[in-house]
Amino acid sequence: MIDLHDLCLDDARALLEHDPASSLPEPQASPTAYLQSVIDNLCELSLKDPLTGLANRRHFRNVLSREIDVVARSGESTLLLMLDIDHFKKVNDTYGHLVGDRVIQAIAKCLASCVRPVDTVARYGGEEFAVILPNCQGSFGLIVAERIRQTVGQLSIAVAPQVELQVTISIGGAYAPGWVRSTTVLWSERADVQLYRAKSEGRNRVCIEEKPVITVSAEEKSMLFGHLAISDTASIEGVSSDASGSPTGSVMNGLN
Ligand code: GH3
Ligand code: MG
Ligand code: MG
Repeated sequence: MIDLHDLCLDDARALLEHDPASSLPEPQASPTAYLQSVIDNLCELSLKDPLTGLANRRHFRNVLSREIDVVARSGESTLLLMLDIDHFKKVNDTYGHLVGDRVIQAIAKCLASCVRPVDTVARYGGEEFAVILPNCQGSFGLIVAERIRQTVGQLSIAVAPQVELQVTISIGGAYAPGWVRSTTVLWSERADVQLYRAKSEGRNRVCIEEKPVITVSAEEKSMLFGHLAISDTASIEGVSSDASGSPTGSVMNGLN
């Protein structure tokens, strides 16, 4: 039997009281249920970015890592997008940090509304976001990213009476190579390379790395891996063009 008086829960309680999304049952009803709820709420809090309520970097890494397992086993087509607000420093310099925060919050909300429930939108860092899109076929990637870019670009963000801001974002994307176990770092770096490409080519645009194609027919696969369990095939690296920094890729921009 748990006696809550034996535990130091003040700090945890104070943290959760400041989070509008957290709610705790009455401790008297069931100490066990109360403690479980404290743990669950703390776990939830540890995965969230406090400014935007989006997934934080920790949660992002967990999801990305899980996706690597899925892609390695199933060959599913999963796209990672990295997004960065263009010339955001100017917003801070002109209107102040608090307005900058409001812009980040508005964009976070907009991004969350642009994607499917199965997708993960995270705040990656300062004014950078990441979106993980499982089951996103190659031909759709550019269309989805372009829709996100345009939706953000059309947003009017009210920051003061009669002051509305519009900002643009640059987006870089890379697919996880199917049937191969990549790493979260490699995969993010490949998307980052495309983001820097989008920036250097003028900003307010989308660059997506050509999807690494591994054309192995079912017959070939059974000849190649027939004697192995399917999970073993997933750990064979280097089949794909997991070449970080591949200069090839598709581009779309809003300036044409
Ligand atoms: P670029 O188009 O190359 O991305 O230019 P930029 O100005 O957006 O990029 P830069 O990296 O020079 O500036 C990013 C700025 O974002 C600088 C930093 O002060 C600001 N920033 C980072 N995190 C936060 C935050 O949480 N709130 C606010 N208001 N500003 C932030
Ligand atoms: Mg940045
Ligand atoms: Mg920026």
